[in-house]
Amino acid sequence: MTSPRTHTFVCPECRRSIEVDEAMRATLLETGCVVCGAPITEGDIADPQTA
Ligand SMILES: [Zn+2]
Repeated sequence: MTSPRTHTFVCPECRRSIEVDEAMRATLLETGCVVCGAPITEGDIADPQTA
């Protein structure tokens, strides 16, 4: 069984940390932070490979 790839998104504006999957990640990049609406970039969403 493959576990879903998740990313940790940390909003640069409100500092809210949210676990997101690939689909949610794409949505965040398009629409911005779900909490405060701030525009975000790929750099605000960490890759899952960090040990
Ligand atoms: Zn925010």
